[in-house]
Amino acid sequence: MESCIFCHIAKKKIPSEVIYEDKDLIAILDIAPVHLGHTLIISKKHYPNILKTPEKILAKMVALGKKIGKKQLEALGAHGFNLTSNTHPAAGQSVMHVHFHIIPRYEKDGLKSWRQKKYKPGEAEKIAKKLQLN
Ligand code: 5GP
Ligand code: ZN
Repeated sequence: MESCIFCHIAKKKIPSEVIYEDKDLIAILDIAPVHLGHTLIISKKHYPNILKTPEKILAKMVALGKKIGKKQLEALGAHGFNLTSNTHPAAGQSVMHVHFHIIPRYEKDGLKSWRQKKYKPGEAEKIAKKLQLN
């Protein structure tokens, strides 16, 4: 993908702070971190989002996310981390090349990802039926 910024980063045509690399993945510091050390895991091959990414690559990405999160706890003194992949612009995806964020988190850092609501009576049952996978 010629115009894709993460393809350019993966091919080292655009510089970044690389913390891990193998034949399939590269992990770099996000240029605009939520907290210092906020990391992105990017697949070297272009897939637009997790829905289009082979399971094998996704499994590698999540396993690497676990390692990076653990490192953030140990090396940065983070109290927790968020491992997330925004899928489609409605969910906040701004770069259309699959990636996971690993965001170090601190107690009382005041960041709340989203507001939550309550189900009306009977509503949870209906939604659960719609979402059944087996
Ligand atoms: P999304 O919004 O798609 O979930 O995440 C894209 C992330 O990529 C954003 O957090 C943004 O700060 C980061 N980003 C965008 N362009 C660059 C870049 O050129 N270099 C680096 N290191 N991060 C970038
Ligand atoms: Zn790309």
